Amino acid sequence: MTTFALIAPHGGTLVDRRVEGSEVAAALDSASRVPQVQLSAVQHSDLLCIATGVFSPLTGFVGRRDYESILDRMRLANDTVWTIPVTLAVDAAQARALGGADLIGLQDAAGRVVATMQVTEQFEYDKRREAIAVYRTDDAAHPGVARLYKQGDVLLAGPVSLLRRPDGEPFASFRRDPADTRALFAERGWRRVVGFQTRNPVHRAHEYIQKVALEICDGLLLNPLVGETKGDDISAATRMKSYQVLIDGYYPKDRVVLSVFPAAMRYAGPREAIFHAIARKNYGCTHFIVGRDHAGVGNYYGTYDAQRIFDEFEPGELGIAPLFFEHTFFCTRCGGMASTKTCPHDAASRVTLSGTQVRQMLVAGQTPPAEFTRAEVAQVLIDGMHEGAPK
Ligand SMILES: [Zn+2]
Repeated sequence: MTTFALIAPHGGTLVDRRVEGSEVAAALDSASRVPQVQLSAVQHSDLLCIATGVFSPLTGFVGRRDYESILDRMRLANDTVWTIPVTLAVDAAQARALGGADLIGLQDAAGRVVATMQVTEQFEYDKRREAIAVYRTDDAAHPGVARLYKQGDVLLAGPVSLLRRPDGEPFASFRRDPADTRALFAERGWRRVVGFQTRNPVHRAHEYIQKVALEICDGLLLNPLVGETKGDDISAATRMKSYQVLIDGYYPKDRVVLSVFPAAMRYAGPREAIFHAIARKNYGCTHFIVGRDHAGVGNYYGTYDAQRIFDEFEPGELGIAPLFFEHTFFCTRCGGMASTKTCPHDAASRVTLSGTQVRQMLVAGQTPPAEFTRAEVAQVLIDGMHEGAPK
């Protein structure tokens, strides 16, 4: 087997804060005798992303210097590009109850200790300022801003050590840490790997984009987000099944890896596009697909804002190359998939459906046109809608 260097993780080193083997028992024992903080679902997913290197070079929840620097200039204090403050917020009473402890235990929703944290700092922060810097709005109707406004007033910072992974997580066989995807890419000899993030079913348009990217890369990391998202998305189980039938029928198996992306959605649009690209670099991707309104919600961001923000950085600062795509569709006159960049025909020739139209068809048990969605995918989506929804 030939060996070659994969793309370096962001900041140079893949962070690994997982405690394993014989050290776990002793660590759990010390963790049980220190003050505890219970994590929200988003904080727990951040913890897992930090500990497994998805958020390299972060080794813990960020302190004040990094926090300020991220807000003001989209970089950590040491100049490494970083656009989203990954923080651990607690309310003021909880912060006082910790009594200045250096070591705290972090608990999951069930009250089990899952990690420890060396608390190096506690600090107050301005939520509205964070909202405007990160989300470009202070509107409490924005889901990311709403979450920020609801969280505690004090941020705890410091490195974390992960002692326990969640038990019985869904899609366990599709969970790979960055160290695992890197090993897999190296084994397959993939030098150029394109990452595609989605929280939606893959219709023909997205399949086309992935395959266009795959024409110039060696492999595709299909990396759906199954963490915390807005409640109105299609269930993660249905989406995962739709990816599997699509890959089984239409993708060369030796060129695609399906692996879930464990981060929580923030809906921070442009800043989150950079954040998502950096995370994929940590998984070993060299390229990352950025569509229109990536990680956007409502009308908070311009259609191309999440693509334009990449121009604010030198290519070397990011390391991973963004690939920008337009909306794509089947054009009956071109006789194939195309986009507004490649097809000169008018809307009447293009097979397009709005998200609402697709949803209505699926709810009614109707299969969208084959030029829009593969029949196998449509069937999974129709079945999913009729299994789950008591509406
Ligand atoms: Zn055309």
